[in-house]
Parts: sequence; structure tokens; C-alpha cells
Amino acid sequence: MTFDVYHFNSKIMAGIDASGYSSPTPIQTEAMPHILAGKDVMGLAQTGTGKTAAFVLPMLQRLLSSPRRKVRALIIAPTRELAEQTHNAIVDLARKTDLTSMSIYGGVGIQPQMKRLKKGVDIVTACPGRLLDHINRGTISLSNIEMLVMDEADQMFDMGFFPDIRKIIKRLPADRQNLMFSATMPEDIKHLASEVLKNPVRIQIGHKVPVATVSHTFYTVTTGSKNTLLLRLLNKNGTESVLVFTRTKRRSQNLAEHLERAGHEATALHGNLSQSRRQKALEGFRNGRFKILVATDVAARGIDVRGISRVINYDMPATADAYTHRIGRTGRAEETGDALTFVCGEDKGPLRAIQHMLGGKLKYAALEGFAAPARALEQRPKQWPSSTPKKSYRPRRSNESRRRNSVFSNMARKT
Ligand code: AMP
Repeated sequence: MTFDVYHFNSKIMAGIDASGYSSPTPIQTEAMPHILAGKDVMGLAQTGTGKTAAFVLPMLQRLLSSPRRKVRALIIAPTRELAEQTHNAIVDLARKTDLTSMSIYGGVGIQPQMKRLKKGVDIVTACPGRLLDHINRGTISLSNIEMLVMDEADQMFDMGFFPDIRKIIKRLPADRQNLMFSATMPEDIKHLASEVLKNPVRIQIGHKVPVATVSHTFYTVTTGSKNTLLLRLLNKNGTESVLVFTRTKRRSQNLAEHLERAGHEATALHGNLSQSRRQKALEGFRNGRFKILVATDVAARGIDVRGISRVINYDMPATADAYTHRIGRTGRAEETGDALTFVCGEDKGPLRAIQHMLGGKLKYAALEGFAAPARALEQRPKQWPSSTPKKSYRPRRSNESRRRNSVFSNMARKT
């Protein structure tokens, strides 16, 4: 299947081609016809499935047919990194159109955002706090919004953003299209969905099962030997594009410094860093200056970096959903990846939930010198749950797509 069936405007098709997309991903196949038909959609999809383009492409199609330079589409995202990434995806896909996009988030000056809004912009991707700030100052008008997207709704709930989101929604025109995407569907998300979405079409792609292109390996270890095990694994398997997750900000910082002292090109990404340091860390990881990124969950969720070969859970994620989010950083867009998880005595609860989610026995590995129940080596879950044949969805790794993924903070492009 190709993108031709959707009859996108030729300028949008040119953006799709330039992005190297040859065929739609499963979420795109499922969601785009409904979004193009103007329906509300509740998409249950994990990251890495191509969900951004699934809502951006129909959004561009819709916006091309109405007058420009008024904010007509609003995307609400939980983190600055995700907002910036979504903005960049829009800029890429809209590059041959005259539609404009900007991102809005805190931690950076508000004046340039106000100036940009004054000039007029078609699409805004915003984090809730700073958006409310603009609303309260009267520096953004939301009265022309035709389309609202709430992305990574479960993370927005976890981060306590729902009261802000409800306030924002009250300022939008009632007559609009609503889309909500979430990797998981706890009761609170269902509740918000029922408040905001009108007769939504429900779409579920790969719910709860981490991407099929990732292999899952578990290492039992004592807390005190995690650093040694990590260094051994890095030395054994190479350090090309490795994302390491820790539970706390402090541990993320300490571990990155420890790895640097051990001679690795590592950096940390967590909420205690200034926005410019967060951007530098992510940009450096994207362009290969840093081979290892040590991150906390909140900072790294939703980010898309092509070619992450391994995710290492230095600390066990608190829930099976958090595991899904973390390992969604590798094996994206059907590239293969490895998820390595350190298991300590205190991790039994989440471990059981992860085991249940992976659908059976966990497979363990052990390095020589580490007392661990060395069972089979790894497990590869069955298939990316999809009706689309695997072959038809192979992203082309063009120089262009590499460049695109290395550009993170280029807010000036088309803004
Ligand atoms: P997302 O889930 O939106 O974060 O997307 C994950 C990755 O898939 C991004 O790097 C996209 O550029 C890429 N992608 C999205 N749609 C396609 C497609 N149809 N073909 C190939 N790659 C895609």
C-alpha cells in the first residue's frame, strides 16, 4: 500500500517523499481515513509506531483549505522534548506547503514565542503550563482552533497536567475535531476521553506489547554491582547509541559522570537540567557526539532518536507500562533493538507485571563473574501486531532522514 490512496495534496505528498516514507505504518493505515473524514479518534498506540505522521498528514490536508496564519491546530504534549520533536516532524512534512508551525514550552524566554505568535502561525505544539501562561496574558488566540490533538495522554496524566488541560479545552471553540493518543488506557484517560471526544473511532495498535522488533534480556544483579555490570556490558557489546534509564535524576547525573570517567562519551538527561542543557544532551546524542544517554523516564519519554541500538534499564521501571515506554525508544520504525534490564531483589513486583505483559517466561542472561540464574539468552516476541505485511514498511535510511533526526533545536526553521 502506498500513500496515494489518501489523495493528499501534491505538496504534502512531496513532504512524504522527502521524508523517505514509502508506505503507511499500521497506525497510519488505521487512523488516517477517519481523521481525514473529520472524525474524532482515540488512538491507543505506543511510541515509535508513526503516530505523529498519522495525525500530522491529515491535519496538513485540512489546514491547506482554510485561510492561513491563525492558530487552527493545537497539539498538546507532555514534555518540551516531545513538543519540539512534533514541531520538527510538522516542519518536515509541511516543507513544501506554506503552512507554519511553532512549539511553545517553558524553561525558555516567553518573548520570542509572543513575537512569533504575533506574526501569525497555523499549527502550535505546546506544553500545558506555558500555553496557559500565553492564554492568561492574551498573547495567543485559540478561537480559530479546528483541530485539537492530545498526545501521550497517559504521560500528561502522570505529570499532573489534566487540570491545566481542562482549563485549556474550555478556551477552545466547541466545533472542532479532537484526537487523543495514549500508549495505555487507565481509567482517568478514559474519563478525559469521554469528556472531550465526540463519538470517537477507537484505534488500537500494539497495545501493551512492546515493539516486536525488540529483544528482551534480563540480568539479575545486586545494587552494588550495577555499575560493574553496566561497564562490562558496554565493553562487550559496544556503546553505539545506548540509552540507559535510571530511576532518579541524581542517579542519572552520577551515572553519566561515572561513565565519562570510565572513558565513555556519555551525558545525562533529566529534569534538574536547564532547558538548554537538556537540548544539548539530546542533540548531542542524536548527532552521535554522545554515544550513551543516561536518562530518567520523564525526560526521555516520547523522544524519537533513530538508530538507538540498546535500551538498558539500569533501574527497573516502576510498571509494565513504563517498561513499554522505555523500550519503545529502540526498535523504532521496525529497526531492531535490544532491551537489557537489571533485576534486583526489590524488583519482584514490576518484574512480574513485565513478565505477564511479555506473555510468559522471562529469559535471563548472565555475564561471567555475575551470580545470576543463567537460563536461555533472550526472547523475541512474535510480531509487531499489525495487519500490514512487514515488508511494506521499511523506512529508507536516507542521508536526509539522518540529518532530519539530528536536527533538534532548529526552532527557526519555518517559524
Ligand atoms: P513516532 O511514533 O511518530 O514517534 O514515529 C517514529 C518514527 O517513525 C519517526 O522517526 C518517523 O519519522 C518514522 N515514520 C513515521 N511514519 C513512517 C512511515 N510511513 N515510513 C517510515 N518511517 C516512518
